[in-house]
Amino acid sequence: MNDSFARSVDYLRLSITDRCNEKCLYCMPQGYKGWQVKRDILEARDLFRICQVAAGLGFTKFRLTGGEPLLHKDIIGIAKGIRSIPGVKSLGLSTNGTRLAHLAGELHHAGVQTLNISLDALDAQIYHQITGGDLAQVLAGIEAAQREGFEKIKLNCVLMRGVNEGELWPLTQYAAQLKLPLRFIELMPLTSRDVLSSRKFLSINEAMELIQAKDKLLPEPGLRLGNGPAIYYRLQNTGSHVGFIGAMTNLHFCDACNKMRITADGKIRPCLGDHGEIDLLAALREDSNNGLHEKFLEALRLKPREHLFRTQYLPQRPMTAIGG
Ligand code: SAM
Ligand code: SF4
Repeated sequence: MNDSFARSVDYLRLSITDRCNEKCLYCMPQGYKGWQVKRDILEARDLFRICQVAAGLGFTKFRLTGGEPLLHKDIIGIAKGIRSIPGVKSLGLSTNGTRLAHLAGELHHAGVQTLNISLDALDAQIYHQITGGDLAQVLAGIEAAQREGFEKIKLNCVLMRGVNEGELWPLTQYAAQLKLPLRFIELMPLTSRDVLSSRKFLSINEAMELIQAKDKLLPEPGLRLGNGPAIYYRLQNTGSHVGFIGAMTNLHFCDACNKMRITADGKIRPCLGDHGEIDLLAALREDSNNGLHEKFLEALRLKPREHLFRTQYLPQRPMTAIGG
């Protein structure tokens, strides 16, 4: 499917729950109580119908996210069901890694091919300060996932000045040791906490300078290690790959955007950084998929040229509800 700006849109990210067992500074407002309802709104069968319609329209890449998708009680059934839909060529999952040590095997057998694992620090105290979580669980999860032999595992680190800039090189070395690509992500204004002040923002250019002080970054212009907008480099001596996702400072960030999102409460969100959303709940109550099909086409027409993060965007729903 092409959008109004001739971009081919074939990647759907589904937030299957807005619940999370961590509370990352950059993702969830302090004391957040905006949980959609007591239970997750979209049931497995709703997710399957949404994916069937999307696959029928030409979406081929799907990712389960949240919130923390591994908290969903039916995560394995959801993964299996989506993977078996004709037209679904790739299924990935984004996770904070805390429950991965227990679930890596089942996820892999269910057909999840790729994992993105958040890792913002290697120092346990700094990790806890950022996420409220336990670093040891995450490291055990990463190792379990590696033993399982997923097609691809990537590590993600959100950049925050004064919080984790001292962690960038230790993280780079850790990822290189495990031979995993590591991506550094610029902080986007998705929560209302003071963390979003310009004092805390660290650009990908500054992160590159910090890493260049340790090893030379060699551009890999043709390298794509996933479906996202990261720009990759190889470290001359360390040999590993690092990627940089500059949603705020890269003015061409949206030029090749290929994705849409499904929020935890059943809306299509054509762009992460634009409040426009299309509700699917009424269409999901109909027996036929025609209504869903129409909603997807409407979302495609509404997909904006670029996000509004650099201009008038004010956070409303936190990332955990929209789906990262
Ligand atoms: N719980 C899972 C996790 O932590 O990976 C999946 C959901 S999380 C919302 C998906 C991704 O969004 C994570 O890599 C996280 O670091 C990123 N993220 C969340 N809030 C962000 C923000 N304000 N700016 C940039 N990235 C953010
Ligand atoms: Fe939870 Fe992931 Fe958001 Fe952290 S980034 S609060 S782990 S959903």
